[in-house]
Amino acid sequence: MKYLFIAGKWAPAADDGTSQTINPFDATPLDTVAEASAADVDAAVTAAREAFDDGPWRQSTVTDRAALLAKIADLLQRDREQLARTESLDTGKTLNEARADVDDTTAVFRYYAGIAGSHAGRVVDPGRLHVTSRITHEPVGVCALIAPWNYPLLQISWKLAPALAAGNTAVIKPSELTPLSTVALVGLFEEADVPPGVVNLLLGQGATVGQALVAHRGVDLISFTGGLATGEAIMAAAARGVRRVALELGGKNPNIVFDGTDFDTVVDNALTAAFLHSGQVCSAGARLIVQDSLHDSFVAELAARADRIRLGRGLDPETECGPLISAAHRAKVERYISLGQAQGAELLAGGSRPAQPPLAQGFFLRPTVLGGCHRDMTVVREEVFGPVVTVERFSTEDEAIRLGNDTSYGLAGAVWTSDAGQAERVAGALRHGTVWINDYHPYLPQAEWGGFGQSGIGRELGPSGLDEYQEKKHIYHNTSPAPAHWFSG
Ligand code: NDP
Repeated sequence: MKYLFIAGKWAPAADDGTSQTINPFDATPLDTVAEASAADVDAAVTAAREAFDDGPWRQSTVTDRAALLAKIADLLQRDREQLARTESLDTGKTLNEARADVDDTTAVFRYYAGIAGSHAGRVVDPGRLHVTSRITHEPVGVCALIAPWNYPLLQISWKLAPALAAGNTAVIKPSELTPLSTVALVGLFEEADVPPGVVNLLLGQGATVGQALVAHRGVDLISFTGGLATGEAIMAAAARGVRRVALELGGKNPNIVFDGTDFDTVVDNALTAAFLHSGQVCSAGARLIVQDSLHDSFVAELAARADRIRLGRGLDPETECGPLISAAHRAKVERYISLGQAQGAELLAGGSRPAQPPLAQGFFLRPTVLGGCHRDMTVVREEVFGPVVTVERFSTEDEAIRLGNDTSYGLAGAVWTSDAGQAERVAGALRHGTVWINDYHPYLPQAEWGGFGQSGIGRELGPSGLDEYQEKKHIYHNTSPAPAHWFSG
């Protein structure tokens, strides 16, 4: 049984509500989880409020906070294997990927422990005598941090590490589908003696617990990663009371391939771009845009290799792709595939569930390649968030750029070319928050991550990821005050 963590104590829901978290590999229950009530949401925000307004956290120094984050990084590495196992079971992803997530999470805590002290403000030249002027960075207050189910541990770290580095207090809510690694992370904070109320954990559904949390007027800032429709609802909720809001809402990411790049490298990377974690990645390279002269051989090889991807249990070292997160999510992805075919796409690989046991029990879907696609198809325009890649073709560089920018999203994109000038021209022209040249997927804790357009508002990671959680205050000090003489009297 997993409990809520409020004001430094583990507790069941006030009304004893519970739910089950399910193993997506075989649809069996993994654990029982407290399902927070409205009273618990209020208690968590109140605890965070009190810890911010009156608790010792307010008096903590940047050095204290950096030490806490560094301690969490150490504990994450100590528990690396157990955390990776938990994440793999809860999300279905492979153990290797889950290990990488723990390492990436560790790096995020270390990064913010490292820069917290050097991002405290700046001195301004006032341009006049007898004045000193400085900008100080101060915490915003109580932060509601809401993370999705695809990278539970990693996504919460992108929010929690900078929020705490800046001196805020937090109420965090993982997805009801994947709460277990976040519960373990909060356990590490308890072990590291975080003061009561600084980190609070709510468990439960987004539509109830999440909604009550973002509506609570004790919350000063909401940071959310998830779907577009939820993001729009959260932005509307944040408008009441003019609360700060940061949104990461996914993408429809172009992966542009020019002829002349190493064939094996680019096919291999196109597979990773599209099918890592069964495509349930906000930056997935789900929209392949391939130059005419290369198109046919490239697509044939891609489809053949997609067919060979080994599906299975995340904990099995032979597995290359796990299941989707839930039956409902798989059904949504299947609807996109059917709609794509109805609108003229050609099914070149996948498109069906594996029928043989034990995979038939879980939420599996075979890696799917749709050829002959064009911009007017729904499956090309909307985020599918599953193991589905669409392929379009282009002939000129201008056409590739036009297609790559023809999306209402703008999270990430890639260009594959052996021409360095072309790489720079295309990367410069793409309207996306991250552009990879001859690579796909890597991100750095020290480099900003976020989207143009409907992919969101604000940036995570890098110094901007800390800025999100800081108010900027200008302190103007006149060291020789004298009458201003604006008025005669
Ligand atoms: P949601 O946007 O519904 O969920 C993301 C997080 O928000 C979860 O913790 C969820 O809780 C919570 N939540 C849901 N509704 C509310 C609400 N009204 N107020 C506050 N919090 C809420 O994502 P889904 O899981 O439904 O996925 C839908 C689509 O979102 C996917 O198909 C994909 O396109 C996209 N997505 C994008 C992600 C990204 O990384 N950018 C990650 C995940 C999804 P709970 O899960 O407990 O309901």
